[in-house]
Amino acid sequence: MKTKKSDALYKKAVELMPGGVNSPVRAFKAVGGSPLFIKNANGSKIYDVDGNGYIDYVLSWGPMILGHSYPAVVNALKNAIEKGTSYGAPTPLEIELAQAVMKAYPSIEKIRMVNSGTEATMSAIRVARGFTKRDKIIKFEGCYHGHADGLLVKAGSGALTFGVPDSPGVPKAYAKNTLTLPFNDIKAFKSLVAKEWKDIACVILEPVVGNIGCVLPKPGFLETLRKETKRGGIVLIFDEVMTGFRVSYGGAQAYYGIRPDMTCLGKVIGGGLPVGAYGGRKEIMSMVSPEGPVYQAGTLSGNPLAMTAGIETLKVLSRKDTYIRLEKTMQHLEEGLKDAAKRAGNKTKFYRAGTMFCTYFTDKDVVDYKTAKTSDTEKFSKFFREMLNRGINLAPSQFEAGFISTAHSGKDIDLTVKAAYETFKGLI
Ligand SMILES: *Cc1c(COP(=O)(O)O)cnc(C)c1O
Repeated sequence: MKTKKSDALYKKAVELMPGGVNSPVRAFKAVGGSPLFIKNANGSKIYDVDGNGYIDYVLSWGPMILGHSYPAVVNALKNAIEKGTSYGAPTPLEIELAQAVMKAYPSIEKIRMVNSGTEATMSAIRVARGFTKRDKIIKFEGCYHGHADGLLVKAGSGALTFGVPDSPGVPKAYAKNTLTLPFNDIKAFKSLVAKEWKDIACVILEPVVGNIGCVLPKPGFLETLRKETKRGGIVLIFDEVMTGFRVSYGGAQAYYGIRPDMTCLGKVIGGGLPVGAYGGRKEIMSMVSPEGPVYQAGTLSGNPLAMTAGIETLKVLSRKDTYIRLEKTMQHLEEGLKDAAKRAGNKTKFYRAGTMFCTYFTDKDVVDYKTAKTSDTEKFSKFFREMLNRGINLAPSQFEAGFISTAHSGKDIDLTVKAAYETFKGLI
């Protein structure tokens, strides 16, 4: 694979930007080597500046569920752009997207559009704190909720540790209000809530943890969170920025039958443009300015181009046959990858929820951050690079989910499985 042009651009980029990128994981640091610079993308394929094509399972980290350059989205955007790109005033498009989202997520009775997932989670937590008049929040180890200060925290040892910031620049005083627990640990959760519920504003989680690969909730875990938060007057926030329209049309909350108080969305609902949203119970969302006292604003929020891309994407997703087709493709890939690993004699664990998936290079069951970390990341890095050489673009980290789109064909999957088999065999 020739990457001369990408390599030259990367050299230039590192002089201009920290690590040569505008978001860290793009830099291939976890797997070694330098990132590919992309020229264009279409359907299931992405093309770099050297002219190499790849079947894409990153899909811009989730949003491109219809594949790249989906014609209806592109055409709608072309029409929209002629009408002006931002007004700073309400448009009918915002109503249309709000209705489309709320149809799929009945737990959202009122919604606010923002520009990223980070903004959505950060704002939802502020609203939950304003609503409950409490300061502490509970999050789970390995769950990523964007890069806001109080959320860049993971647990130390033990269930009751106060949060320590993961990143320099986050004041200890912020992190102190973030309590962290292992995902799927019902006992630890119950005992923390029993002790501290009077101070806890909200519990926020990825109902399926996509930011350490793909970790599924154990039976009873989400149910316990729902029951205990309700009892303690704690706001339950599902961060469905990744799982929304991915685990199912109605997200993880529809799939597992749990109604959270608040939901954060992003990625898919922007159809590839920068969008986030948060919403939930009417009485909670009525706290948001200008209806209520909790301030949150955005110059470009509800941007007409972003709304248009979201509306067109959700139109396709609301058709029943879309998810039937996605499920078929995903089953094909799941069976193929599992079988390829087995035939090659590789010990891996495969997990998936709807159209997100992860192959862990471990023989342990992955149920939380700690068990995810048992993966052989060296082996994954080799796997990643070999797959890339064979024209398959996976996320450049063991701890990221893969995604499929409606554009992935049976032939794409067959090629991917064949490449995976050859790569797995080479790893033995
Ligand atoms: C991607 C992601 C975010 C952050 O969204 P950005 O648009 O990158 O700010 C938040 N939560 C989850 C679960 C995510 O996957």
